[in-house]
Amino acid sequence: MLYVSTRGKTDLFSAAHAITRGLAADGGLFVPQNIPAMRMVDIKAMERKPYTERAVDVLLQYLTDFSEDELRECVNAAYAPEKFGDNPVPLVQVNDNTGVLELWHGPTSAFKDMALQLLPHLLTRSMQKTGETNKVVILVATSGDTGKAALEGFADVPGTQIIVFYPSEGVSDIQKQQMITQTGKNVKVFGIEGNFDDAQRGVKEIFGNTALSDELAKKGYTFSSANSINWGRLVPQIVYYFSAYVDAVKAGKITAGDPINFVVPTGNFGDILAGYYAKLMGLPIDRLLCASNSNNVLTDFINTGVYDRRREFFKTVSPSMDILVSSNLERLLYSVTEHDAARVADYMKRLNTEGHYEIDSEDLKQIQSQFFGAWVDELETKEAIGRIYNDYHYL
Ligand SMILES: *Cc1c(COP(=O)(O)O)cnc(C)c1O
Repeated sequence: MLYVSTRGKTDLFSAAHAITRGLAADGGLFVPQNIPAMRMVDIKAMERKPYTERAVDVLLQYLTDFSEDELRECVNAAYAPEKFGDNPVPLVQVNDNTGVLELWHGPTSAFKDMALQLLPHLLTRSMQKTGETNKVVILVATSGDTGKAALEGFADVPGTQIIVFYPSEGVSDIQKQQMITQTGKNVKVFGIEGNFDDAQRGVKEIFGNTALSDELAKKGYTFSSANSINWGRLVPQIVYYFSAYVDAVKAGKITAGDPINFVVPTGNFGDILAGYYAKLMGLPIDRLLCASNSNNVLTDFINTGVYDRRREFFKTVSPSMDILVSSNLERLLYSVTEHDAARVADYMKRLNTEGHYEIDSEDLKQIQSQFFGAWVDELETKEAIGRIYNDYHYL
């Protein structure tokens, strides 16, 4: 399996290269050349396997320059019981037709741990495979949860350094304390003036600055990313969609082959995109419901085909979703335009220069057949949490 840039101006690269680099040289995101398919018998066979083996099954499809044993070592280290308990990703049934996939059993309580505990293992092996001798400097922009989860994953990992940028007034108190108290010889944390989008744009500009990267390369450093723009961060997330599905089959809630929906709280569009890839691979998913807070740029996009970031930025009670420029949407556009890199590059350029773009009606139809977009405000968010707690004693 080889990887291309969504903007089409690079060669084909191995998974190890895509993971080491993070972002493609033309500013695009690395995507697999094609999406591998999984047969229903293989999906069904996951029922009897622990989470780590389900992960090996899925990762093997994408990280073809890794051996099965290598991947097994990586996932066993990442999802060890000392870090995640005995079942890293339990599916808890709330009522007859709703289950919650509990993604918060990792060391920082953020679902990001699912990917960020594994990424350092994938990255250090990728560096060996690509012959990377420079120290890899991981730049992270965070709206709160990614920062701590990335720091925890990369603290004292040999050959790496990690620098996190967070909006100094835009994260919760707990998130801020989690980040600024991080220990480790290779960690740095900066609060910036601005919001998450400013942090993300700044980091992307550093990646795009070739003069700077040449200069640093001479001194023995290479930049990479631990945001979901890095393929190595996204691919571990595909696994838990399969895991949720087979656990629902195992619990007798559905029969293998029945379609189910996933509702995904969304910010940078990484988590939900992983669900979309699971669907393309053959997992019986009907719709992916893209759930937003008052920063409802994605709801509007899914409903109208117009992406417009020129709007007020709200600080909400769900800061990890306070994002107006959802990076991973670029990967979805690449997929629904059937790999039309020129068109994707044009949309992204417009977003950068004019702050908005509109996609073709055919592409919109395609997106609407797979996704449903909706948002709730602050009060509705709190009411929903209260209602579920009162009705089902589930927080
Ligand atoms: C990161 C995060 C999100 C958003 O996920 P994306 O992959 O960026 O869409 C939503 N909720 C919580 C709690 C998060 O930590």
